[in-house]
Amino acid sequence: MIKRVIGKILQTSRVAEYEEVLQHARKQGYVLCSLKDWYAKYRDTEEKVLILRHDVDYDTDGAFRFFQLEKQLGATSSFYFRWKTMSSPIMHEMYQNNFEVSLHFETLATYAKKYHLLKKSDINDRIIENCQAILSDEINRFEQTYFKIYSICSHGDKRNRILDTPNHVIVDQEFKAKHKILFETYDANILSAFDAYISDSSIYSSFEWKHSGAPCKMIDEEKQTICLLTHPIHWNQSFFKNIRMFFAIYSDNR
Ligand SMILES: [Zn+2]
Repeated sequence: MIKRVIGKILQTSRVAEYEEVLQHARKQGYVLCSLKDWYAKYRDTEEKVLILRHDVDYDTDGAFRFFQLEKQLGATSSFYFRWKTMSSPIMHEMYQNNFEVSLHFETLATYAKKYHLLKKSDINDRIIENCQAILSDEINRFEQTYFKIYSICSHGDKRNRILDTPNHVIVDQEFKAKHKILFETYDANILSAFDAYISDSSIYSSFEWKHSGAPCKMIDEEKQTICLLTHPIHWNQSFFKNIRMFFAIYSDNR
């Protein structure tokens, strides 16, 4: 444990490694784009697409670094911000450059912490309805503060694992229709449209790629539609940032 903690504190930036993946995809003829662009422009085409999704759990500056890199490469991507990582100037700059910027919601987990819910059986229809009303308010607040959104993305909190219930359980067709939301990122019809779905991991898992495996391998195998989910916190690291992140993660998991 101590060794892993020290390793985490001393971890340096891996942005160059991320750039290599994007450059490789580009060389192999992939379009690099946001979920929204894929959904609107490429979903029903033969185009090879590497969809770039970022869940901004902790690291707003790191998200901006990814944005700068992707913009330089002529790509777009999707950034989903938690309320605690939102930054108006950064989000507006992303949005003005046609990147997708939206809400990484954690409504059920927050509700469960507030009302001390600890078991899956604690989640009843009334709680789902309460959480839907709260998420409705969150979407309205987001859109009034920033801009219209077309997709939303469920965050995975430690409390969701305890409850064995993801935040997106509160999002159904009726809810999406009400808010003119095209999709939630874990919708079955979205996930099943990917030929490969890859997620990054932290130093605790030696940065191993999860689900389909390494992106360059999937690219070399010419999977037509690849969704690559990354968390800026696992890539944009420096000594002081790593220390700060420890406190943020600790406060989340209390
Ligand atoms: Zn998240």
